[in-house]
Amino acid sequence: MHALSLQPARPKVLLVSFDGFRWDYIYRVPTPSFHYAMKNGVHVRQVTNVFITKTYPNHYTLVTGLYAESHGIVANEMYDPVLNESFSLNKMNTHNSKFWEEACPIWVTNQREGHKSGAAMWPGTDVKIHGVLPTHYMPYNESVPFEDRVAKLIEWFTSEEPINFGLLYWEQPDEMGHLLGPENPLMGATIKDIDRKLGYLISELKKAKLWDVINVIVTSDHGMSQSSSERLIELDQYVSRELYEVIEHTPTVAILPKEGKLEEVYEALANAHPNMTVYKKEQIPDRFHYKHNRKIQPILAVADKGWEIVHNKTDGFLFGNHGYDNTVPEMHPIFLAVGPAFRKNATKQFMNATDLYPLLCHLLGINPLPNNGSLNAVKDILVEGVPGARGADSYSTIKCIKQRMPSSAN
Ligand SMILES: [Zn+2]
Repeated sequence: MHALSLQPARPKVLLVSFDGFRWDYIYRVPTPSFHYAMKNGVHVRQVTNVFITKTYPNHYTLVTGLYAESHGIVANEMYDPVLNESFSLNKMNTHNSKFWEEACPIWVTNQREGHKSGAAMWPGTDVKIHGVLPTHYMPYNESVPFEDRVAKLIEWFTSEEPINFGLLYWEQPDEMGHLLGPENPLMGATIKDIDRKLGYLISELKKAKLWDVINVIVTSDHGMSQSSSERLIELDQYVSRELYEVIEHTPTVAILPKEGKLEEVYEALANAHPNMTVYKKEQIPDRFHYKHNRKIQPILAVADKGWEIVHNKTDGFLFGNHGYDNTVPEMHPIFLAVGPAFRKNATKQFMNATDLYPLLCHLLGINPLPNNGSLNAVKDILVEGVPGARGADSYSTIKCIKQRMPSSAN
């Protein structure tokens, strides 16, 4: 059909995220496509994502290898006190480049190294970051069907000047997980639908003769846990709403006290409820890697799994939520990797979500920027001698403008 097959195999990578696909959904109902990928690739059983376990922070971690405090997308809803500007996923106010430019995502580095990238709705890929957009991208529009997103990616991978790196995002099963709650038996239908979508992607890649030459990673940003009207923590019972503003919402609430009211708000909330842990910013545990950023607010209230923090019961709530402590198993995402670079029918017990970025750079043969991940930690899922990929020791000398150094273990 075209001359591609005559060229030496160049590394190709497709990164897929099904938002909110919890690690254990594949055991709920028959998921033949996921199991087909597992049999032909690698399945990592436990992936520790980053705190807070929300959509935007974790999608940016997957493409930067950085904890949220270092990449700067610290929540879905943010306020920058220096810029006096806000960022909001709920209001689709996410296109202010300044919020994204504490880090440099992999598509920018890929293009700076002379390659082409294509993105179908992945968070941040329709934002100009350090002056760069993906070579090809789709402006975010959740009503664009999955099949259309796949068609675009196939077109970009097979064009005369093909991309080597594609990103594909799909909003489900997150939305149904919120509406129904993950323990609801009706979730089975949504999980089956995602499995059909993965099957569709695989069959389209096969039709395009890409399946045997492309490395596909299927993962997610976070899981989901069950909420209940019996587990609401009502802030109005403890502190006046006049004294503070909520920036990021339940279950991990970023609280901005009014001028001079920090102590008062903290004292009112600190021991207010046994299922809510309240930190002043400087007290946030080091293991969260969630402190050293001006967009992290002065007070952080973290609900226990399954609990929600609201103003009062009139706020309403959804039957499923995420955003909790990233060591809670229900917050963990799926992770499968299949393609010529990966072992077949292999299982790995554990990885960190930050390890994906150096792995992607390795697969693409590009230099990773400083990050919080480790290629060595995931090298065992690779087969030896992948064409085009570099050794594990390559390390960046190319710096992205304003790229922050990753936080140390402090
Ligand atoms: Zn969600």
